[in-house]
Amino acid sequence: MFCPACGSREEPGSNFCANCGSRIDAARSTPIPVRGRPGAITTICVIGFIAVVVIIPIIFSAAASVAGPWIPAYLGLSAIVGIACFVGLWRMKRWSVIAYTALSAATQIVLLATGRWNILSLLIPGVVITVGFFYFKDMD
Ligand SMILES: [Zn+2]
Repeated sequence: MFCPACGSREEPGSNFCANCGSRIDAARSTPIPVRGRPGAITTICVIGFIAVVVIIPIIFSAAASVAGPWIPAYLGLSAIVGIACFVGLWRMKRWSVIAYTALSAATQIVLLATGRWNILSLLIPGVVITVGFFYFKDMD
């Protein structure tokens, strides 16, 4: 542990700092382990938030309603679930990976049903899900 006054390293269990004489409060000076967010997760979240912002105008576009009247409703729901997933992922929550996987599976079905599926449709969700499960054990 470290002295809260001068920052010098102290022997565990000592009550006073050998360097500056300050009282060492064990509870205060014991560093709280902080699990940092991996860079890959941060990158995915930033891209994800941008993607959701791009999707919202499509909801109100003519192209979406031509594909079927339920498409704007589905896109709206996807945007809301998507934002929730990326907020959860940003905070390293396991449920966000599971929710994103479910959302992606539903999106694949919608794309297949509307004849818009292609291999690229799998690419982005595939990367997000792979990275998500790679860091799953580090999440809470
Ligand atoms: Zn000190």
